[in-house]
Amino acid sequence: MALQSIQKGRASTPVEPNLIDYDGTCSSFSWERAQKEELDGLPAGGLNIAHEAVDRHAASLRAEHLAIRWLGRKGSSRDLTYGELSQLSNRFANVLRELGVREGDRVFILTGRIPELYVAALGTLKMRCVLCPLFSAFGPEPIQARLSRGEATVLVTTPALYRKKVEAIRSQVSSLRHVLLVAPQSGEPIPEGTMNLGSLMEAARVAYTIPLTDPEAPALLHFTSGTTGLPKGAVHVHQAVLAHHVTGRFALDLHPDDVFWCTADPGWVTGTSYGIISPLSNGVTCIVDEAEFDAERWYSILQDQGVTVWYTAPTAVRMLMRAGPELPKRFDLSRLRLIASVGEPLNPEAVVWGQEVLGLPIHDNWWQTETGGIMIANYASMEIRPGSMGRPLPGVEAAVVRSEEGGSLEVIEEPDVQGELALRSGWPSMFRAYLHDEERYRKCFAGDWYLTGDLARRDADGYFWFVGRADDVIKSAGHLVGPFEVESALMEHPAVAEVGVIGKPDAVVGEVVKAFIALKPGQQPGEDLRLELLGFARKRLGAAVAPKEIDFVKSVPKNRAGKIMRRLLKARELGLPEGDTSTLEDDA
Ligand code: ATP
Ligand code: MG
Repeated sequence: MALQSIQKGRASTPVEPNLIDYDGTCSSFSWERAQKEELDGLPAGGLNIAHEAVDRHAASLRAEHLAIRWLGRKGSSRDLTYGELSQLSNRFANVLRELGVREGDRVFILTGRIPELYVAALGTLKMRCVLCPLFSAFGPEPIQARLSRGEATVLVTTPALYRKKVEAIRSQVSSLRHVLLVAPQSGEPIPEGTMNLGSLMEAARVAYTIPLTDPEAPALLHFTSGTTGLPKGAVHVHQAVLAHHVTGRFALDLHPDDVFWCTADPGWVTGTSYGIISPLSNGVTCIVDEAEFDAERWYSILQDQGVTVWYTAPTAVRMLMRAGPELPKRFDLSRLRLIASVGEPLNPEAVVWGQEVLGLPIHDNWWQTETGGIMIANYASMEIRPGSMGRPLPGVEAAVVRSEEGGSLEVIEEPDVQGELALRSGWPSMFRAYLHDEERYRKCFAGDWYLTGDLARRDADGYFWFVGRADDVIKSAGHLVGPFEVESALMEHPAVAEVGVIGKPDAVVGEVVKAFIALKPGQQPGEDLRLELLGFARKRLGAAVAPKEIDFVKSVPKNRAGKIMRRLLKARELGLPEGDTSTLEDDA
C-alpha cells in the first residue's frame, strides 16, 4: 500500500535548534524549572510518564496529531493519533485492573515491534505497574531468566512466541499470573492458561483516570545489554520522564512537527526511552518499523515517511556503509535534518561518511541503561568533532575521575587525561536500583558521583572522548590501549567492514593487541591483506598501539543492541567459557 507522506514539502525553511546558547543554558538550567515549564503534572497529583507522553496531548489541540505510524513487515501500516493512543492505553490499563493486577506489579512485553506493544507499554505505566519490554528474538532461557528475576505478574505476547518460547518454561516462573495473547486468529483456540487480549480490550472501558503517581514510584525495568557480563536489571521511576523530555528537546532537537524514527527495539533501553517516551512527550510523530535491518528498506522509509530526525546506532551505520554509497543516491533524503547515534563508540569514519553520503554528519551521543537518558551529546547547533561523544547535557555534570586509595575520588581537571567517566548523581532518569543487587548499586557511587565503568577523557573545550569500557581496556607493554581507537583506525581501510579488538594475554608485554576483522563484500582475506592492514594500522597508531595480530572473521559477534562483544572474542580466542550469551545475536 502506498502511504501518504506525513509531511508535505521539505523542511527547507531552516529549523532553529532548541539549544543554541550551550554555555548560557548550562549555567541557567534547573531541573525544577524545566519540570514546571515543560511538563504538565498529573491532574490527580504527582507525575506519570504516560500522562506526559500521551494524555496531555490527547486532551489538547494535538489530539488528532499522528503519534505513531507503524509500518508492518509485509507492507501494511497503521496510524495512531495521540487521541487514539490515549484511549487504547486506557483500555489496556482497565484490562489490567479488571484482572486484579496491582500497582507495582511487573508487566513484561514480548511481542516484536507491533502497535499493541506501544499500547500495552503506556497502559502499564498508567496503571502504575512496572514495564519490562523484552527482545522477541530472545530464546526461552533468557526469557525465563528475566521473567523470574523480574518477578513478572503479567506477560503480553503473541500466540506464536508463546508456543515457541514461553510454554515450556512457564511453570518455572511462579509469579506469572496472566498471559495475554495479542491477536490470535479468529476461531483459533488459544493455549490453556492464556487469554485473548483483543477480546479483553474490546470489553474494557475506554475511560480511565490515572491515579496519583509518586514520581519516585518504579516505572521501568530494563536489563542491560550484557556486553560485559550478566545483564543487570536497572530500575527507573516516573520522574525519569523529565530527562526523557528534556534530552529529546536538546540532544535530538525535537520540534512539534518532526517525524522521528528511532530504530532501536524497546527490548533495549533506547527503544523505550527514545522509541516511546521522549518523542511522545515532545508530541512528535514516531515511525515504528516492524522489520529488521535492510539497507534499501531503511532508505525508503527515510524518504517515504519524510523522516526529519533519525536516531540509530553505530552498527546500523556500519551496515549502511557496507551497502555502499550508490544505494542512498536513489532516494530523496532531503527532509532529514538531524541524524544521531548511540550505543557504542561511533567511528570518526562514520561521521564523515554521513556528511559525504547522506549530506549530514552523524551526531554521536552517550548514555547507559543506568542513566535512563542521554547524558553527553553532540548538539544540532554545535561543531562536531568526529570521534567525540560531545558535551554534557544542561543539568548534567560529567567529569573524568581517578579513584584514590580508600575509596575517595579525585576529579581530574587537567584536559586530555584519561580516567573513569563519572556523573554527579541526581539527574531525574538516574536508575534507583539494580534488581536484587543492592551492593552492586552502592558500589556504583562514590560520594556524590556515579561511576559509569567507562573510561574517557575531556579536551580543553569540554568535549568528552570515549576511550573504552574499563573491562575492555588493553594493557600492553606499559601502555593503556582503548580498543575503540584501534578499531576506528582499521575502519578507515577501504577493505574493512567491521572490527573487534581485544587484548590477548602475553607473558612478555602483558597483553598484545589483536584485531578480528570482517571484510567488505568482494574482499578476499589472505596473507597480503593481513600484512597490509598491520602496516596500515602501524602507520596511523604507532607500534605500541597497533595490533600485532589480525584474524579474519565472517562477522564480529554482536549482541541484540548491536554492540561488539569483545569479551566473547576474548573467551573464544583463549578457549574459555563464553559466559552469559543470552543477548547474543543469532548468527554471531
Ligand atoms: P552491560 O552493562 O550488561 O555490559 P552495556 O553496558 O552494553 O551492557 P547498555 O546500558 O546498553 O549496556 O550500554 C551502555 C554502554 O554502551 C556505555 O556504558 C558505553 O560503554 C557504551 N556506549 C553507549 N553509547 C556510547 C557512545 N556514544 N560512545 C561510546 N560508548 C557508548
Ligand atoms: Mg553497562
